[in-house]
Amino acid sequence: MNLNTKERTVYLAEKLAGEGDLSDGELLELIRDRNGASAERLRQLAGEVRDRVYGRKIYIRGLIEFTNYCRNNCYYCGIRRENEHAQRYRLSEEEILECCREGYGLGFRTFVLQGGEDPWYSQDRLEHLVRAIRREFPDCAITLSVGERSRESYEALFAAGADRYLLRHETAVKSHYEMLHPREMSFDHRMQCLRDLKDIGYQTGCGMMVQSPGQTLEDLVADLRFMKEFRPHMIGIGPFLSHKDTPFRDEKSGTAELTVYLLSIIRLMLPQVLLPATTALGTAEEGGRKLGVLAGANVVMPNLSPAGVRKKYMLYDNKLSGGSEAAEHLDLLKKEMGSIGFAVAVDRGDSLMDSGEDDKEE
Ligand code: SAH
Repeated sequence: MNLNTKERTVYLAEKLAGEGDLSDGELLELIRDRNGASAERLRQLAGEVRDRVYGRKIYIRGLIEFTNYCRNNCYYCGIRRENEHAQRYRLSEEEILECCREGYGLGFRTFVLQGGEDPWYSQDRLEHLVRAIRREFPDCAITLSVGERSRESYEALFAAGADRYLLRHETAVKSHYEMLHPREMSFDHRMQCLRDLKDIGYQTGCGMMVQSPGQTLEDLVADLRFMKEFRPHMIGIGPFLSHKDTPFRDEKSGTAELTVYLLSIIRLMLPQVLLPATTALGTAEEGGRKLGVLAGANVVMPNLSPAGVRKKYMLYDNKLSGGSEAAEHLDLLKKEMGSIGFAVAVDRGDSLMDSGEDDKEE
């Protein structure tokens, strides 16, 4: 690495911090020529922005993985329909409410219900579930992450009391999307779902896998461009990690290094976005979640599912669910975050992202 490349990438990091954006060509350069000096500079600048907007607070979400049945067959995912080795389970409404009660006692004020696209959880059952949580926990945010549904379905779930929705776009490039998913799935439909969710009024989260098979650096620039324009309230990114019972079993996994670098870039492009240090990041590298927070993230989502099912929601090999990933070990998480100067907040932790309609064209 010669000095000029280092100087150039550090300059680009500073320009990004100053202007909140770069041209696509500059973003590509910043990613392609990344090095220790540019990573360090991005980390400092993104940390300052996060501290200024949100303070040194970590927002927590209790993640309830309530079903691993799925009608989809995404090539990367361990709970894909055709994985016959997956031990399937689904939690009942009462079991889910029990998770929420435990979480509430621990200090969680957001519950994230994530699952495969499980037809048993029909519209009626999902609405019933959301209403039951809303009734019992009026001061909590309810986040859904149950995949692609119709606009009418999203509207009814919103009316039932859901506040937020996570639907990663996975990749912003159609041809790449088609390398990751079978033909029965549609890039255009996923993007339409995201637009509908935001339009209905959900605090909406998108995000991509980092270094998924076939992804180019140009594809990552397209992800950044899409997110900058879409202005989601939340962005979840994590490295692709291979799973032994999927078509991508032999594909190379992504790294914490690039994921953390992208977290800093995202923080600088969208200062007000809520940005989790994800479980996949923690799985890719020991201490990965701390690195994510130091690079500009401000959310973690400990696992609030019943202990007996945690190992069954295996999206990728070796997915962490113990230690400070476990909701009941919030003390460990507090210690971990305390050691790098952050306090865990007991708070809904709503996004400060404005809805963006008025200043979109600024
Ligand atoms: N069915 C829901 C939830 C999917 S699981 C939905 O469609 O939104 C949540 C996220 O886990 C996915 O969006 C994907 O980005 C991530 N994921 C799945 N398999 C993965 C893998 N092998 N490596 C890394 N992340 C993975």
